[in-house]
Amino acid sequence: MKRLVILGGGESGVGTALLGKEKGFEVFVSDKGTIKKKYKDVLLNNEIEFEDEKHTELKILNADLVMKSPGIPDKVELIKKIRSANIQVVSEIEFASRYTDATLVAITGSNGKTTTATLTHHILSQDLDVGLAGNIGDSFAKQLLMENHQNYVLEVSSFQLDDISQFQPKIAVLTNITPDHLDRYDYKFENYIASKFRIVENQTSEDYFIYDADDPIITNWLQDHSIRSKLLPFSLKNEIKEGAYYNNNEITITIDNNKLIMPTKNITLEGKHNIKNAMAASTVAHLLKIRKQTIRESLENFQGVEHRLEHVLKINKVQYINDSKATNVNATYFALESMDAPTVWIVGGVDKGNDYKELFPFVNEKVKAIICLGVDNSKLFEAFGNMVDIIVETQFMSEAVKIAYKVSEAGDNVLLSPACASFDLFENYEDRGRQFKYAVRNL
Ligand code: ADP
Repeated sequence: MKRLVILGGGESGVGTALLGKEKGFEVFVSDKGTIKKKYKDVLLNNEIEFEDEKHTELKILNADLVMKSPGIPDKVELIKKIRSANIQVVSEIEFASRYTDATLVAITGSNGKTTTATLTHHILSQDLDVGLAGNIGDSFAKQLLMENHQNYVLEVSSFQLDDISQFQPKIAVLTNITPDHLDRYDYKFENYIASKFRIVENQTSEDYFIYDADDPIITNWLQDHSIRSKLLPFSLKNEIKEGAYYNNNEITITIDNNKLIMPTKNITLEGKHNIKNAMAASTVAHLLKIRKQTIRESLENFQGVEHRLEHVLKINKVQYINDSKATNVNATYFALESMDAPTVWIVGGVDKGNDYKELFPFVNEKVKAIICLGVDNSKLFEAFGNMVDIIVETQFMSEAVKIAYKVSEAGDNVLLSPACASFDLFENYEDRGRQFKYAVRNL
């Protein structure tokens, strides 16, 4: 019996444990932290051996195959030892994909993964048997065991791609690349870029690669490297012969002379970035032969994803918008760009080495007040202090929302789009978004 060791007893670890057991492995789960009770219960109920609060090296180094949770960096001593013992290390996406013949649509990028994956799934599910997995909800491995669909839309992070070897999506989507997670890539942007492009490394000339042709990081990389996949770019700026583009409130998608033209005025998602996401998702759907009418209607009834430019409430004709998932400057750039009214902007948190310059034009043009919501707001005051009449700080969401209420007038927007991580004041971005919504509803 082959021995599978799983490092990390979270969603992907426990999913892999279940699938591994089903596929005949002797499974051992090891987590240096505490495994949550709900996962412990699953392991116990399925008679899968595990440990937490420690790693028993002797046992781990006895593995035939190791599945490493995406949260564990490569520089950890134990991982180095595993690699030098020549034991193969794989990610959950790699492991699970070995046990399915389903058509895989894999979506990666620095921003827009969840939105694009959810929207793609929404469109495909009108006509196809399709699951949604990866960084969203249940792990891919668990889904394969429980539901086993003919198609999967997978949200794939760079960490999942770091440990693939055969993973071959039929359709790969790359939404964009901006610097992120550089601490995991030796602070080298090129390493992070290379990691994202691993999504195409096993594709053949029968597979497709859909990408943002307006992103210079992506197009420069493609100029310097040759890949086998069929290319389907999308663009907001230029006409695209094979792929998708946006012009004059219309998206045009052409694949093998088969054209799909869709008006965008009734698309529920707002902002230019979401036109890009809509182009990517519709290109996938067009490739998989979803009816044109279905694609159009799906774009017009998609409800959006929580914490991404989510409209919360209108109070006294002021629209409150929750974009808590904007944890970097690029995401906030698109949020501010999409604002169509004077905006009171709640921003701040843990700064990941942010450069705020690209936001200056929007702040000058649209932002009437800034409410800094972080433990250390000095960089925000430095960047925007001279740009707006009102700039204040607080460490409490309820107070931030009350200030926003006071300084806003009918017709304004109040936007939470922090451009920063959340863990100085909140558990995570979901907690931050929920606290915002709670405070708004209590006004
Ligand atoms: P991810 O899963 O990659 O983090 P999300 O869909 O959760 O992406 O969106 C994260 C943040 O980025 C949100 O604030 C959202 O409004 C913004 N966003 C969504 N799509 C894009 C895009 N294509 N380009 C830039 N920002 C985007």
